Amino acid sequence: MKGLATISEVRASAYTIPTDAPEGDGTFGWDSTTLVLVEVDAGGQTGTGWTYGSPACATVVGHHLAPVVEGRDATDVPGCWSAMQAALRNIGRPGVAGMALSAVDCALWDLKARLLELPLHVLLGSVQESVPIYGSGGFTTYDGRQLDAQLSGWVGEGIPRVKIKIGENWGQALDRDLRRVALAREIIGPATELYVDANGGYTVGQARRVASRLSLYDVTWFEEPVSSDDLSGLRAVRDHTGIDVTAGEYGYDLGYFERMCSAGAVDCLQVDVTRCGGITELLRIGAVAAAHNLQLSGHCAPAQHLAPLAALPNVRHLEWFHDHTRIESMLFEGMPSPATGRLIPSQLPGHGLTWIPKQAAHFRVA
Ligand SMILES: [Mg+2]
Repeated sequence: MKGLATISEVRASAYTIPTDAPEGDGTFGWDSTTLVLVEVDAGGQTGTGWTYGSPACATVVGHHLAPVVEGRDATDVPGCWSAMQAALRNIGRPGVAGMALSAVDCALWDLKARLLELPLHVLLGSVQESVPIYGSGGFTTYDGRQLDAQLSGWVGEGIPRVKIKIGENWGQALDRDLRRVALAREIIGPATELYVDANGGYTVGQARRVASRLSLYDVTWFEEPVSSDDLSGLRAVRDHTGIDVTAGEYGYDLGYFERMCSAGAVDCLQVDVTRCGGITELLRIGAVAAAHNLQLSGHCAPAQHLAPLAALPNVRHLEWFHDHTRIESMLFEGMPSPATGRLIPSQLPGHGLTWIPKQAAHFRVA
């Protein structure tokens, strides 16, 4: 690439993909997932980024973000980010707008790497040769046979840690939660790490009592035992148990993560590059976590987390989430494979994934 490459167009589209079985956790259930794709053109290249959210994200991109990014230099990603952040002032940064911003930012970084003919992790400055993963699913909607098939599959692929959902029906099915944890331990055997995620389904008292029982099954990760908005509640659970307490997937800006770290609320900070403000903000969040001596774990959207997490020193792992892994393998060429429980960043320019329009057309909703 020689000189500047002016961004000529920013496009957004949305696709709703049915799940392969009903999925649910402690506080939510779903039978489809919407991917919002952003494509940015400059200098004969196209960068892609995406988020998992409402089709309304595509509207926010078209109305509020594309107009301030088009015409700018494609290598000036933080400058584009600042222009987008400013454009969102009157509609609010968290939620739909934050997801839209994140998808555009991810597309811009992919585009810049493609223009420079560099793998994205090399452009960002690589620290790790590969990033550990954990298998994530174990939905409350699964029966024992489905749980067995999924967890055994991951263990068979060499993934040394798996996560299941608990907190069913807002903590109203404690016996079933604990039976499913016992079953998961039986399925995976003693050598694989077992994680649980309550999605904020318990009260503080319930979460403390559940934590005592989880220790009997050598559970080492207790995600959102209580609402991630309840920082003192997370801290209270954390003070009670030796299991790592984790949260952060609903963080939409830097201040959110700083408050969570400062409250001593978590043992590992979770972050979602498709919500937090994209790669630009993720790198800043990595620095905030490092200043608190905390590691980061990438939430969902595995293909998009790989390159930025490989560029940070304080990374524990990323989430190989059943639903998103399935969608990204279906709609993109170049999905990394989970060999030996780690993902290796692509050596192709950009993030190394190629969107397959004809595979996605059938699912298009906006
Ligand atoms: Mg979670």
